[in-house]
Amino acid sequence: MTVGAQVGPDLLPYDEAVAQFDPVIGLEVHVELGTVSKMFCGCATEFGAAPNSQVCPTCLGLPGSLPVLNRTAVESTIRVGLALGCDIAEWCRFARKNYFYPDMPKNFQTSQYDEPICLDGHLDVEVPTADGMRPVRVEIERVHMEEDTGKSLHVGGATGRIHGADYSLVDYNRAGIPLIEIVTRPVEGVGSLAPEVARVYVTALRELMRTLGVSDVRMEQGSLRCDANVSLRRLPTDPLGTRSETKNVNSLRSVERAVRYEITRQAALLSSGGRVVQETRHWHEDTGVTTPGRSKEQAEDYRYFPEPDLVPVAPDRAWVEELRAGLPAAPGTRRRELQETWGLSEFEMQSLVNAGAVELVEATVAAGAPQEAARKWWTGELSRNANAQGVDLTALPMTPEQVARVVALVDEGTLNDKLARQVIEGVLAGEGDPDEVVAKRGLAVVSDDGALIAAVDEALAAAPDVAEKIRGGKEAAAGAIVGAVMKATRGQADAGRVRELVLERCT
Ligand code: ADP
Ligand code: MG
Ligand code: ZN
Repeated sequence: MTVGAQVGPDLLPYDEAVAQFDPVIGLEVHVELGTVSKMFCGCATEFGAAPNSQVCPTCLGLPGSLPVLNRTAVESTIRVGLALGCDIAEWCRFARKNYFYPDMPKNFQTSQYDEPICLDGHLDVEVPTADGMRPVRVEIERVHMEEDTGKSLHVGGATGRIHGADYSLVDYNRAGIPLIEIVTRPVEGVGSLAPEVARVYVTALRELMRTLGVSDVRMEQGSLRCDANVSLRRLPTDPLGTRSETKNVNSLRSVERAVRYEITRQAALLSSGGRVVQETRHWHEDTGVTTPGRSKEQAEDYRYFPEPDLVPVAPDRAWVEELRAGLPAAPGTRRRELQETWGLSEFEMQSLVNAGAVELVEATVAAGAPQEAARKWWTGELSRNANAQGVDLTALPMTPEQVARVVALVDEGTLNDKLARQVIEGVLAGEGDPDEVVAKRGLAVVSDDGALIAAVDEALAAAPDVAEKIRGGKEAAAGAIVGAVMKATRGQADAGRVRELVLERCT
């Protein structure tokens, strides 16, 4: 899939941009760990609770409160590091990153600075190109632990941003949720494939997190967030150019689009003699552009210092080895196993991967659906819906269990494909489970012969000339009557059965 960035006066067409410049990217991915409690206190972490209902003196940063490190969060981070081939530090510390922002109650974020827990790993990905799959090794510089901040809600004003708002509300439920940040080294040498590499890397990372079971990695809920750094240089042998850092890109498709956009924007600037400003930028999903955020020309002074309230983390080597031994098969290995079990071609498997549907299909199969049907709905109807809304498949409000139920309803003859599509539409519109949608919309296939025979007789009576032809042996003419019956039953009849009945009634 290639997503085109829009080209305006300040953008160079993509092909020209990559002919003139060599893009380099760097990705910072934040993953919220799916622990039951927060990083340094016992508060719950569930998404969507009433604002400020999951807080305590520690995560609110009240004087006198003391943090205690969440063991499961450390364990999950080490497992991520091991799965990425990182070295696990024998000893590391937390640091205070000092800055002031209303969503950060302590006025410092407990993070890791120069002593991260995981260092020097890599993730191997495969990028689709015109000449087949190209392997790319993305090097990981570090994985470190930190805590999430709260969430501001800006009320009034058109955009939901602070600018133009009447007032702001802040919800600290998210403050203190364990977060890991996975930082790549600059990815060089991928040229015009840079946007695809970015998407494929984040997709693979998300798949890995899911395989490890450390996070639900829902980009639309913010449990996986990506900042994309992009720079250009004339020649691959030149030193790295100045980068921009596009923040919080919240879908896989947007990661690719944002990188592509930045390449065309920076190329236009540089080729007209301008320079790229080192800054953060905001991604706008609706218009597909980035706009300037905070300047990073001057290094910010966060006055980092080691966190005095927490003891250093020195993971026991035996424990680390135990965690290493317990790692599940890597997603690539798992993918090949599935491809074999399901008997799929390379192309079929790749379409599933590109659609981001591997785990969803797997879960649908686990819920009882045959793999062909599961693949058909996820890569067909559901992918169409996700694309139309510009979201990832996992963001659709339909679960693998619900898809499996639709498949079962089709198999038992309650639904045909056309009705199944309407049921999916209903589930996506929030009308309830498949069975509820069937009941509410009255969608079941009419398979009661009595009702069908009446409809067939009616259609034959309404078209005596056609009926005559069928009786004279022209079976092809039956199609018109089948069509009339399907119309009369609003598509809810089994067309095959209707055809049989038409022929029966005409002999
Ligand atoms: P910051 O604190 O500014 O976010 P980090 O070190 O956490 O810095 O992350 C910077 C990211 O940008 C890393 O992934 C790094 O590889 C990448 N990066 C650094 N320099 C460049 C560059 N010139 N072009 C593209 N990416 C870069
Ligand atoms: Mg960073
Ligand atoms: Zn708390």
